Amino acid sequence: MPQTENLRRTALVTGGAKGIGRAVCLALAEKGMDIAVNFAGSAAAAEETAAACRALGVRAVTLQADVRRPENCQKLVEDTVAALGRIDVLVNNAGITADTLMLRMTEADFDNVLATNLKGAFFCTKAASRYMMRQRYGRIVSISSVVGLHGNAGQTNYAAAKAGLIGLTKSVAKEYAARQITANVVAPGFIDTDMTAAMPESARAAAAASIPAGKVGDAKDVAAAVAFLAGEQAGYVTGQVLCVDGGMGM
Ligand code: NAP
Repeated sequence: MPQTENLRRTALVTGGAKGIGRAVCLALAEKGMDIAVNFAGSAAAAEETAAACRALGVRAVTLQADVRRPENCQKLVEDTVAALGRIDVLVNNAGITADTLMLRMTEADFDNVLATNLKGAFFCTKAASRYMMRQRYGRIVSISSVVGLHGNAGQTNYAAAKAGLIGLTKSVAKEYAARQITANVVAPGFIDTDMTAAMPESARAAAAASIPAGKVGDAKDVAAAVAFLAGEQAGYVTGQVLCVDGGMGM
C-alpha cells in the first residue's frame, strides 16, 4: 500500500545493526520509510545496515544508545526526530539472552535481561509515544518470543522479559487506541541469527526438531510480519501477538 501522499514515514529500530533488527530496517526501507538504526556496540554493522537502506532510496542514520538507560532512550528518540523529522514507527527489537538453569541464575543475569529486553522497550515506548500522541499516529512493534508465551527451561529471565513485553504492549494498545497509535507484538520462534548461533549444538538441534515447518526461520520471515504491523494498512490491528515460528508454538 502506498504511503500517505507527501508524507514520508520514519522508523526507529532498536538493535537494528544485525540479525532480525537489520532485516526489519531493510523491510521498512523497502516500504519507503526513512530509518534510524540504533546500535549498542556494533557501529560498523549499523553503518552497513544504514547504507543498505540508503541504497533502497530512503534516508537512514545510525544512532548509538544503550536501551537499558532511560536517558539514552530519550535521547535516541529525540535524535531520530532531529535527524528524520518525525517518529512514526518504533520497533523494540534490542534483546539479549543469559541462559542458565534456575538454580544457577544470578540476580545479575536476571536483571540484565529484564533491563535490556523489557525495560528498554518501556523507556523507548514512553519516549516515542509523546511524539506519536502529538502526531496522532504511531506504530509500535515489539519483538517478543514464543518463549514468552510458552516458557523454556534455562530461560526464566528471558521468558519473563518476553512475557512482560506482551503485557506492556496490550496495555499500551489500550491507552493509545483512540489516538491512531497501535501497539503489537511479533513473537518469533527459532530464527537463524547470532543469538541462536551462540546456543550449544544439542540445543539448536532439539529446537529445530520441534518446528512443524521442518526448518529454522530466517530474519526476513520476522521482518515481513513487522513490516505489516508497522504499515498504515494495519491501523485497525492492535494489542495482538503475531507468532512467526513455523508452527513451533501451536
Ligand atoms: P542478535 O543478532 O544478537 O541481535 C540483538 C541486537 O540487540 C543487536 O543488534 C544488539 O546491538 C542489540 N542490543 C543488545 N543489547 C542492547 C542494548 N543494551 N542497547 C541497544 N541494543 C542492544 O539477535 P536477534 O536474534 O537478531 O534478536 C533480535 C530480537 O529478536 C531480540 O529481542 C531477541 O530476543 C528476539 N528473538 C530472537 C529469536 C531468534 O531465534 N533469533 C527468537 C525470538 C525472539 P549491538 O550488536 O549493537 O550490541
